[in-house]
Order: sequence, then C-alpha cells, then structure tokens
Amino acid sequence: MSDPTRKLTNIDDPAEFRDRISSITDDGKRNWVYPRQPKGKFYNARTWFSYLLLAIMFAGPFLTINGRPLLLLNILERKFIIFGMAFWPQDSFIFVLATLTFIVGILLFTVIFGRLFCGWVCPQTVFMEMVFRKIEYLIDGNANQQRKLKVQDWNAEKIIKRIVKHGVFWGLSFVIANTFLAYIIGKDELLKIITEPVSQHLTGFGIMVVFTSVFYFIYASFREQVCTLVCPYGRFQSVLLDDQSIVVAYDFVRGEKRGNPKKRSAEELGDCIDCNQCVEVCPTGIDIRNGTQLECVNCTACIDACDTIMEKVKKPKGLIRYDSFNGISRGEKRSLTYRNVGYSAVLVLLVVFFFGLLFTRSDLETTVLRSYGTLYQELDNNHYTNLYTVKVLNKTFDKIPIQFKLLEPAGKLNMVGHDLQVDSQEKAQGAFFIDLSGDELTGTETKLKIAVYSGDRLVETVKTSFMGPRL
Ligand code: SF4
Ligand code: SF4
Repeated sequence: MSDPTRKLTNIDDPAEFRDRISSITDDGKRNWVYPRQPKGKFYNARTWFSYLLLAIMFAGPFLTINGRPLLLLNILERKFIIFGMAFWPQDSFIFVLATLTFIVGILLFTVIFGRLFCGWVCPQTVFMEMVFRKIEYLIDGNANQQRKLKVQDWNAEKIIKRIVKHGVFWGLSFVIANTFLAYIIGKDELLKIITEPVSQHLTGFGIMVVFTSVFYFIYASFREQVCTLVCPYGRFQSVLLDDQSIVVAYDFVRGEKRGNPKKRSAEELGDCIDCNQCVEVCPTGIDIRNGTQLECVNCTACIDACDTIMEKVKKPKGLIRYDSFNGISRGEKRSLTYRNVGYSAVLVLLVVFFFGLLFTRSDLETTVLRSYGTLYQELDNNHYTNLYTVKVLNKTFDKIPIQFKLLEPAGKLNMVGHDLQVDSQEKAQGAFFIDLSGDELTGTETKLKIAVYSGDRLVETVKTSFMGPRL
C-alpha cells in the first residue's frame, strides 16, 4: 500500500509533480487523500455560504409561485417551469441562449477570478467538503485517525464506524438523489414514488436507486477524482487563465527559499518554513507551492492553513492568497485586459438579450397554415377565400379565450364554428376563412398579417399567405 503521508513536494526536482496525479500512486493504484480539516476565516465563510446554497437547493423543489414550482426541469415529459413560468420545447431557443450565457459567464469569471466557482459554488465541492467530509471527521476522526483506522484490523470499533459512516453516506445520497429527482419530475410525483407501492412506479424507483448509487459512489469513493480526472471545466484552465487571472497562489517571491529556520540560517530563507501544512489540508492532495495546477479547485484551505502558520511564526499573513501571477512576480495591481472587456461586453449583451426574450415571450404559440390540399375559392363579387387551419399552444396556467383579426390587407376573417378557448398548458385547433377582394391581391401569393387577441389584449401577430389567381 502506498504511504498516504508521503510529502508531495520534491524540491530536488521541482517539475516532478507534473509527472503524476496525487490521488494515484506510481504503480497506478489509488492514493487515498486524507486532508486535514482546515480552520480559518475562508473555511468559515465557505461553510456559511455553502449552508445558504444547500438551503436553496433542498428548498427549490418545494418552493412555489402561485401554486407552481419555482423550478421544474422535466426532461422526460418535456415540461419546464422556471420562476413559475412554463416553458415548452418551442421555447428551446431561450434555453440555448441561457446555456450560452451561463457558459460565457463561467468562462469570463474564470479568466478574471480563476476557479472561484469550483471552490465556492460547485455542488461537487460543496457536498464533498462541506457535507460528507465534515461527517467523516465526526465519525472517523481527524486525518491521522482516519489513516490509522484504514490500516487497523477489523475490530468492533472499525466495523461500527464503517457501518455508521456508510449508512449515513447512503442516506444522504438518497436525500440528494430525491432532491434532484424532484427537480425533474416535481415533488408530487416524487411523493407518490416514495409513498405508493414500488410495483406502481418501477421506472421512477429504478431511477431513484441509480441516482442514489451514483451519488454514494462519488462521495464515498470517487471523491476528488471528479475534479481531477472527470470534470471538463478543469481542463479549460490552461487556455483560460492568464498571468492576470486571480487564483489561489503561493507567493514564491516572498516564500522562497523555503526551509526550516531551525536548520538553516534565517538570511538564506524566505517566509515559507516548509511545514507542509498547505499540502496536508489540500483535498486534492497537491502542493500549491508548485504553482497553479489543474487539480487545484481554489478551495482556499491552504490559505487558511498557511495564515495560521504565519501567525504562529509572526510573519505577515497572505503567503498563500488570492492573487495573480503578475501580482506576485511584479507586484502589479489587477487591471482590465482587452480580453476581459470583450468577454464582459458579450456577456452583458447575452444577458440583456436573454431577459428581453424571457419577458417578451408570448403566452401563446400560434401556427396558421392554409388547409392542406385546398386552393382558393372564387366568389361572384370579385372576392376570393382561403381556408386556414390554426393551432394554438397555451403556455400559461390560465384558460385563454382567443379571437383572430385580419390586420393586413383589408379583408374579412370568419371563424368556422365558434372562437377558440385554450385550456391551461394545452393545445387547441380551429379553422377560419379569409375573404379578400381581388383588388387586394398582389399575385398568386399575398402576404397576410393576422392578430391573435385574448379579449382586448393583443397577444401576438402571425404571418401567412393567401393564394389567389394569376393576375
Ligand atoms: S503552509 Fe505556508 S509556510 Fe507552511 S509549507 Fe505551506 S506555504 Fe510554506
Ligand atoms: S491547492 Fe489550496 S486551493 Fe487548491 S485545492 Fe489544494 S488546498 Fe484548495
């Protein structure tokens, strides 16, 4: 078995760390990371912030606006509700734009603030470090106790601790899985799966078991490897970060040469006393003194650890801090680069466009088509008629009465039967004739503009064409 306590820094070969991943041993086996629990202002701030995020996430499926879920992403039935507004596959362009805005936002943030998202907001970090890891410290003890427990024989203590820990992990994974499921199928459906006989909800129950197993596997076993081996976002770092990006960084100017002041003269040493505390707390098992690395999720644990040491040795805090490479190497203050300005401008435009689309989105989706297989009809007074089929999708939660009016050119619109009423979240179909004078025709195809009204309110306008004789 590998020695999990081995130091990860090889000062004789400073680039050696690039040849391996700290969670995998040289012979290709898993090198379990036992990070020490951080203490400090960043850890406290992250703890409170993660509680806020967790509260929002767990409350999300149960919050309603006018009796509708705040957020429902039912991919299976293609039903989406965001902030109480229903979205349909017809609104997919809004989703595409929202996704684009989100991606550009994340990229922009990465360029300026490094992986701030990973350390503070990413659900993987929040659950792993702020929920599961804390429970592990409570049950298995601190990092050293965890190492001892791992190698000790299977006695009563180890068996009980393992059963309790994995039982709690499984239970929590079940809760998380159910919450995710509630976002997809809604809380009422979820409640049915939980309370009604399994035989009535075999698919739902199966999905629930799969979700729970995946979450359990990630937090009980796979852990930091999600960030270091799987997450594509980490891979973008090398192209997104530049010398001005703010990241969790070690001040090598101030810190080097590192060394134990008891063993070497103070004049030849920098502020880093080589205590290895920044490595001990790192949940991905890396040494931040090697520089910015793909595995660093900017969790700030090493900042807290080093600040504590600096306090003890009576040196200024911030040997590891949020700073840019230029900030550390040249003492430069942050400034806006052309790239940052460009990204910001694109992001602002996308956000404005996105909210514009969101709030000007029509409550109805109307399609007007000339009835299949019909030609125009010629009436005796130089008038012509076309028959149209109309389909209306009601995206709201209210029943909507619909009337149609011909806006352009002048003419008559006569419904076949009565006006349409479209139930909440339903589609309705009807038909109408358009009657135009021959004087209004512009050729075999005349452009039409039709208004869709609900009472006095103009809901939307639709364009179609009118077929007439060759003039
Ligand atoms: S915690 Fe600070 S002083 Fe200790 S090894 Fe890390 S950088 Fe050096
Ligand atoms: S190097 Fe520091 S900030 Fe990066 S993952 Fe490790 S402890 Fe967190």
